[in-house]
Amino acid sequence: MIFAVLAAAAGHRVTVLERLPFVGGRTSSLEAGGFRFDLGPTFFLYPRVLEEIFASAGADLNSSVPMTRLDPQYRLVFGAKEASCSTHLDATPDIARMEQEIARISPSDAAGFKKFLAENRDKLAAFQGCMQSPFTSWSDIITPKMLGLLPHLKPHLDLDKYLQGFFKDPRIRTAFSFQSKYLGMAPFRCPSLFSILSFLEYEYGVYHPTGGCAAVTAALADLARSLGVRIKLHEPVTGMTFEKKRVTGVTSVQQSYRADAVIMNADFARGMKRLVPNELRASWTDQKIAKKKFSCSTFMLYLGVMGLFLACLITRFASLPTTKKIYRKSTSINRHTQIHLSTFRIACVTDPTLAPSGKSTLYLLAPVSNQLAKTDWKTEAPRLRKRLLQEAAALGYEDLEKRITFEKIITPDDWEADYEIHLGATFNLAHTLPQMLHLRPQNRFKDISGLYLTGGGTHPGSGLPVIFESARITTRLMLEDMG
Ligand SMILES: Cc1cc2nc3c(=O)[nH]c(=O)nc-3n(C[C@H](O)[C@H](O)[C@H](O)COP(=O)(O)OP(=O)(O)OC[C@H]3O[C@@H](n4cnc5c(N)ncnc54)[C@H](O)[C@@H]3O)c2cc1C
Repeated sequence: MIFAVLAAAAGHRVTVLERLPFVGGRTSSLEAGGFRFDLGPTFFLYPRVLEEIFASAGADLNSSVPMTRLDPQYRLVFGAKEASCSTHLDATPDIARMEQEIARISPSDAAGFKKFLAENRDKLAAFQGCMQSPFTSWSDIITPKMLGLLPHLKPHLDLDKYLQGFFKDPRIRTAFSFQSKYLGMAPFRCPSLFSILSFLEYEYGVYHPTGGCAAVTAALADLARSLGVRIKLHEPVTGMTFEKKRVTGVTSVQQSYRADAVIMNADFARGMKRLVPNELRASWTDQKIAKKKFSCSTFMLYLGVMGLFLACLITRFASLPTTKKIYRKSTSINRHTQIHLSTFRIACVTDPTLAPSGKSTLYLLAPVSNQLAKTDWKTEAPRLRKRLLQEAAALGYEDLEKRITFEKIITPDDWEADYEIHLGATFNLAHTLPQMLHLRPQNRFKDISGLYLTGGGTHPGSGLPVIFESARITTRLMLEDMG
């Protein structure tokens, strides 16, 4: 949708074909019984990129979607099943209060916070250019500028090891590393570069868009329409048309369209396998895709309940040895459905528009294996549901089950079948170093002229502000190519 806005603002005629009856994909909402839940991301980071995108199309993000900065950003609960044995940390962007929070758990770690912020401020400034540029080959990497970034990149360190330089207590490190779950990765495997995710939260804030994150994609669609973009909902693309090595258009369930350029935002691996013949994509054949690493998936429980809750956003971690053991195994091909981390979002605390009066929305998320684990979700789903309700009870929501008036579960199999996500890997291709920069699918697809890619499975990567950058890069490349 961002591509559509930017290309239309630059004077191009754009048609968006969307297979679902609504826009937003993973950043859409589920609505039922007067409740509205964010389907995927439940809060927003670094709105600056989006503000710039709205501004470049002559619009204003904040008047289109008012955003509330959360403080505390969230509560992290560490430890045992019994609430009385657990510790919590209320993460706040207020530096003095955050130092006090850290000191309450680990006094000697409080001084690491400012050091962490300072180092990551430099790191983000150094890397911003990478996130805004296309990378096409090694020659884009082996440049004096890129080599100058190596001291920041620290390729020999994973995120947890990197944080050991600032914080001794593993609970404090968890507070600054669990954000790797936004990429579907464990901190023990995630490159240290991604410490910028937690930095972004503290430096630029965690926001709740009024109406939920789906309000942002809906506002983008409104903006696109106001610029003349045709958005055709419920119209799946079934293939593309080609002349030799050039794409000439797409075919949908309803009709064929000719196009000077085709931009694919469908899940990269799924879109390639379904829409582009294998023989036309030497760099991303089915065999090559099969060898890639994919992120974990998520098990979701969306509950509409009677009564009002006070907490807003809580992430609860299992006891530390359990967390570490599961995280260590937690690759894309893991075989666990044990919960080591669960997120509870009660967004209606911040935004009463999301639930009927006197009722609450609860969003419960547990990261789990993607479909490579071959889990039987028919038997596993009821077990995990029970487990998540036990987790909720440990947080004090003991009578939750009796209060449920609406309930929906989404498993990795549902992500795959209903949302067309390869392996149900909700966070796309993993962000390992061999799958980043020019080694990630590039925004200008080099095997087929006229075909461009955007979305979490492409450069620069997954996570919302980063995906927005991918759409900006794609637009720039297409505009350059079309003169
Ligand atoms: C439960 C969950 C929690 C998450 N939490 C976070 C978070 O906290 N922070 C964060 O940064 N990220 C989070 N993410 C990840 C984030 O949602 C995704 O990375 C991002 O939304 C992906 O955007 P995308 O444009 O690449 O794909 P999508 O949003 O999936 O968009 C692809 C679009 O293409 C459409 N499409 C697919 N195939 C076709 C076809 N054949 N024809 C026509 N249309 C088609 C789809 O319907 C969809 O609208 C979360 C994801 C999930 C599922």
